[in-house]
Amino acid sequence: MTEINAMDASRSIVKNGAARQPEVNMLRGLLSSQDPGELREVINYLGIAAFIVDVTPDREFHLSAINETHEQMTGLRHEDVAGRTLDSILDSETAKRVKENYSRCIREGAAIQYEELLDLPVGEKYWRTTLVPFYNVEGRVFRILGTAYEISDAVRLKLQTRYQSTLMSVYLDESPDGILVVDANNEIKTWNRRFLEMWDIPEDILQAGDGRSALEAVRNQVENPDEFVERIMELYRHLDQEERSYRIDLKNGNVLERYSRGLRDETGRYWGRIWFYRDVTEHERLTEQLNYMARTDPLTETANRRAFMEELSDEIQRSRRYRHPLTLLALDVDHFKSVNDRFGHVMGDTVLRMLADTVRSQLRDTDFFARMGGEEFTVLLPETELKTGARLAERLRQSIEAVRMASDDAEFQISTSVGVAELADAEEPDGLLNRADRALYAAKASGRNRVTCAD
Ligand code: GH3
Ligand code: MG
Ligand code: MG
Repeated sequence: MTEINAMDASRSIVKNGAARQPEVNMLRGLLSSQDPGELREVINYLGIAAFIVDVTPDREFHLSAINETHEQMTGLRHEDVAGRTLDSILDSETAKRVKENYSRCIREGAAIQYEELLDLPVGEKYWRTTLVPFYNVEGRVFRILGTAYEISDAVRLKLQTRYQSTLMSVYLDESPDGILVVDANNEIKTWNRRFLEMWDIPEDILQAGDGRSALEAVRNQVENPDEFVERIMELYRHLDQEERSYRIDLKNGNVLERYSRGLRDETGRYWGRIWFYRDVTEHERLTEQLNYMARTDPLTETANRRAFMEELSDEIQRSRRYRHPLTLLALDVDHFKSVNDRFGHVMGDTVLRMLADTVRSQLRDTDFFARMGGEEFTVLLPETELKTGARLAERLRQSIEAVRMASDDAEFQISTSVGVAELADAEEPDGLLNRADRALYAAKASGRNRVTCAD
């Protein structure tokens, strides 16, 4: 606030004689005139919107004069307002605010400056207003000279900037992504709460904008630190390179996915880079679970037909490439329908689980066991010839037969028939499956509970 005392100002201007005559006249007029027309003339001399408010001894405010510029800028007219109280010109809320400033000017006994939003005939506008108090001989402020210029554009710009930065920080805070922004020197400019939750980086490193130390801190948190750092360096070297769903495995088991792009202003100048980190751990876990479900038979928890067909075609290719043998067993429960009929469907399910457990416990890690549907199962035996496969099939048949099942009132056993086929030259998956099935059918036809090899 500038310390101006109008009395002192007028004395000094008059005394040192340096002032031009119009200024002296203006100050004299301001101090002495009671005539609104004369006062208007006096303040017309000022180049900006100006007004004079007279203060009665009981602190009532009368608008005595407004100048031409004021009229143009506010839409008020001197003839309409001169001599009237503020309350009769402005709405009560605006009048109250305006009077508070006038009272402050009187209280402080000096010039004050402030910004205000006024709803005048020309519309809502922001003003920067200066008030200068004038004292009478008794030392009471009897008049206030106000000058004002419009600052709507500047204020709007400021509000807009504030609005945008508020919006920005809300966005940053609420974003599910961890966000980091670095400048053209790879120094840290901003980051959000999620970023802090994902990465264990001392906050003073971030506060200091120390990009290098931050990278050093996260280096130890990832599974492949060298690749991780090299990738970041590569993006820093290639300013316009965009990155999409780059996977990062953390040592704590979490999985992050990263998106990153360079930032340029509208003139094309490089600003830096923004990094988005998304925690996909849960998503990954769900996807894995869905994948597992899509490939697994829920009753026996073995692979299903779909998983088996994929595995079969992979194994056939591998066996061709390395010229290794590959053998397939097709297994079917004998008279399974009668198990259901005699002991119920639930017991039938129990039998299927028992069979799966029995088979599984005798396989190698590289063997692949699947339920193809109903009471039919397959076992794929990589690097296994027909004879070895048939021996395993016989062991499986015996161990299944040996299991004693108990229902409420009876004990029973089940038996299985098995068809065995070894992959022939240039054979397709369906060909191998068909031959194993035909061998199985032959086992059934010749009395069941036996192993039959395809020719
Ligand atoms: P075969 O010796 O000729 O193989 O006779 P089978 O009775 O085993 O053969 P069939 O194909 O006639 O009957 C298979 C039965 O398996 C019919 C069906 O109700 C039963 N089944 C299929 N899936 C399930 C299942 O998930 N649970 C139970 N409990 N039964 C099933
Ligand atoms: Mg059967
Ligand atoms: Mg069957």
